[in-house]
Amino acid sequence: MADPQDIIRADVRAMTAYPVADARGMIKLDAMENPYALPEALRRELAQVLSECAINRYPDPTAPALKQRLREVMGLKPEWEVLLGNGSDEIIQIMVQCCARPGAVVMAPTPAFVMYKVYSLIAGAEFVGVPLRPDFSLDTERMLAELRARRPAIVFIAYPNNPTGNLYSEQDIIAIAEAAPGLVVIDEAYQPFAGNSLIGLLDRYRHVVLLRTVSKLGLAGLRLGYAVGHPEWVREFDKVRSPYNVNVLTQAAAEWILRRHELLDAQAASIRAGREALFKAMAALPGVQPFPSAANFILGRVPDAPRLVAGLAQRRVLIKSLHGAHPLLEQCIRVTVGTEAENAAFLDALRAGLAELHGGLSPMARP
Ligand code: PMP
Repeated sequence: MADPQDIIRADVRAMTAYPVADARGMIKLDAMENPYALPEALRRELAQVLSECAINRYPDPTAPALKQRLREVMGLKPEWEVLLGNGSDEIIQIMVQCCARPGAVVMAPTPAFVMYKVYSLIAGAEFVGVPLRPDFSLDTERMLAELRARRPAIVFIAYPNNPTGNLYSEQDIIAIAEAAPGLVVIDEAYQPFAGNSLIGLLDRYRHVVLLRTVSKLGLAGLRLGYAVGHPEWVREFDKVRSPYNVNVLTQAAAEWILRRHELLDAQAASIRAGREALFKAMAALPGVQPFPSAANFILGRVPDAPRLVAGLAQRRVLIKSLHGAHPLLEQCIRVTVGTEAENAAFLDALRAGLAELHGGLSPMARP
């Protein structure tokens, strides 16, 4: 009988599965989720809506009601096509699969969202990461040189970027869109916190596709992402999509909640306010250098990221160490902005962890 090593591709066997930490009993600030639940009354109404869904039937693969709601809420123009995904993750995978002809290259400035690389490798495409500058801005000259040299089928640009949290210069992105020989995907997963969008580039370039998700808005558990682009591209992606990829409960729940999007907008506003307070508090801690963020998380450099993150976990606060993930992320942690109480718990745990690093003495008390 066959063993996996006889059958499973060697590159797949060499991979590790996407790591998700056990968050039971923890203050969960590691995954860029919205910390707020829906109000109780709305949850009851939603339960009623979901109870009326025909779960014995396959979902409508074109999801007309949900697409129409997204078009209205997000201000999408009628000439743009919308593709729905089981999270924007799935759409990244679909786009890469569509473009992965033999020898195809997928490019992104790095450090970037890891799934660009993972899905490229699974699809058999080569992933080329072009390092950002140490201040996390785009190294546009290098990007342009790599575009000419490697001619990527797709360039992914996250705006704001994960894990650095910053917005790149719009002029730099336009220069890349002008020079790109293939598709340019602008990934706006964190747009609700950014105060800016590059959606206007769709009017200028037919080869630009915008990627969004409702995950960071407060609906991560529903798994719903969407791509917006010109029909000649989106129609091709649609052929690779699994026919029933967005289930009936997700379609109904998202459509219903997006009718009340002011609630989610208000939550995003309070997360933005929380981010500014958290940034200031982190900057005031000796040895901690937070980087300005336009997302719902903050990247920060600390004296010993792996030890601090382990120490925080002991204090029941879950954040992520990015040390070792990329040379530019040396001794970096990433913390999601939570509720006021969660942010305070994180700061307390961070202070305690820093004091521990200094041999149990607070930095002020050191000789
Ligand atoms: N793009 C970026 C930049 C992300 O950081 C993430 C998730 N962390 C995603 C896409 C995927 O989000 P989802 O699948 O929840 O829509």
